[in-house]
Amino acid sequence: MTNPIVIIGAGQGGLQAAESLRTAKYDGEIILIGEEAHAPYNRPPLSKSFLLGECSQEQLIIRQPAVFDKKKITLKTEVRIEKIDATAQVLTCADGSSIEYKKLIIATGARARLAPIKNVAAQGVHCIRTLDDALKIANEMDDVEHLVVVGGGFIGLEMAAVARKLGKKVTVVEYSERLMSRVVSPMVSAYYKDLHESHGVNICLNSSVSGVVVEGDKVSAVKLQSGDELKAEMVVLGVGVSPNQELAQAAGVICDGAIVINNKGQTSDSNIYAIGDCSAQKMADGSLLRLESVQNAVEMAKAAAGDIMGLDKPFVAAPWFWSDQYDVKMQMVGLSGGYDEVVVRGDVQSGSFSYVYFKDGELISIDSLNQSADHMAGRKLLAGNNSLTPKLAADMSCNLRDAVIQ
Ligand SMILES: Cc1cc2nc3c(=O)[nH]c(=O)nc-3n(C[C@H](O)[C@H](O)[C@H](O)COP(=O)(O)OP(=O)(O)OC[C@H]3O[C@@H](n4cnc5c(N)ncnc54)[C@H](O)[C@@H]3O)c2cc1C
Repeated sequence: MTNPIVIIGAGQGGLQAAESLRTAKYDGEIILIGEEAHAPYNRPPLSKSFLLGECSQEQLIIRQPAVFDKKKITLKTEVRIEKIDATAQVLTCADGSSIEYKKLIIATGARARLAPIKNVAAQGVHCIRTLDDALKIANEMDDVEHLVVVGGGFIGLEMAAVARKLGKKVTVVEYSERLMSRVVSPMVSAYYKDLHESHGVNICLNSSVSGVVVEGDKVSAVKLQSGDELKAEMVVLGVGVSPNQELAQAAGVICDGAIVINNKGQTSDSNIYAIGDCSAQKMADGSLLRLESVQNAVEMAKAAAGDIMGLDKPFVAAPWFWSDQYDVKMQMVGLSGGYDEVVVRGDVQSGSFSYVYFKDGELISIDSLNQSADHMAGRKLLAGNNSLTPKLAADMSCNLRDAVIQ
């Protein structure tokens, strides 16, 4: 029998790659390997509906076991790959066993970064990357009155919104001068600061944490660089992630903060692909684009599977993302960095509006808040050519979709 296509990482991207290979009529063996104990599950609800008890553990699971049987995808959970021998095309598992591959797809995701602060390993200090992390948080939540979130990015803010809904006293400590500064415009940051404060969250900007104060071995407070202390029975760290690139790097695959790939997911080794959070796409101008989103993992998985099957379907990045905080659903499409003109579409006070960003007169991104129609139109506009001008964007009688050039 010919060697299988092996996928390391049974997350969002890994599962999609396996299914896309089958859709493209690959009839050889597919092995999907994950170190977690769970079958592939959706991560986004972990910081949203799951902690609110609105989504069960079973509902997180993306595919039932029967689907794996039907599609003849061999799922191996609780198996960690320790080494890739790219010359022999063999993987070494943590238990010493080995698996040969014909083609390899690395979908190892990213791991939550630990803030370099004193007592960060104390009981009650959590990250939220995996289902097991979320289960630990859920188990301890009843005994928490004060929660400190370190990091005012998407995951930290979603955590803060959930904790407020659960009646906790919440403080968000953010190092920079505004929330979600890495990915959203100052207007969106300001909107979310107001939103959280109106729900009773204490937002500390330009602040950093120097350490966790413990009583016994359990967190009791968070100490800020300013010397202030914030009472806390739980601390959640949302300070970003580190791509899991080490396996590839040790195998001689080119990495630069993440595994470097082309627009079909191929790495510097023609038998090895990388997709999702562990990868960064080399763009035409030589820059690297690394996205952390379900859409990116899924689309890149399709592109990689397509390339293995000889289809020419490169991934065209028109990235989109969403975040749920309180009753606000924000949906973003495109990348707003570098915009030189922004138009407000709709009424900010109504809570249902979009910011439409342009650069040199060209649409580059739309952030829609409770305004899904604009978001869906934006995905169409940014996927190809469009004739949207700032004037048209501001005109609520104009349907954004009409600016798509077919
Ligand atoms: C709390 C939270 C909320 C999020 N919310 C959103 C959202 O609202 N919208 C959105 O678009 N994105 C969201 N994301 C991001 C999104 O979930 C990720 O971008 C997506 O899961 C990336 O998919 P992936 O396949 O690259 O990695 P993952 O889904 O992380 O899967 C990687 C898997 O590989 C396994 N693995 C790693 N190393 C090995 C090894 N050596 N051997 C075996 N297995 C290994 C890991 O354990 C993991 O299970 C959120 C993420 C989190 C954590």
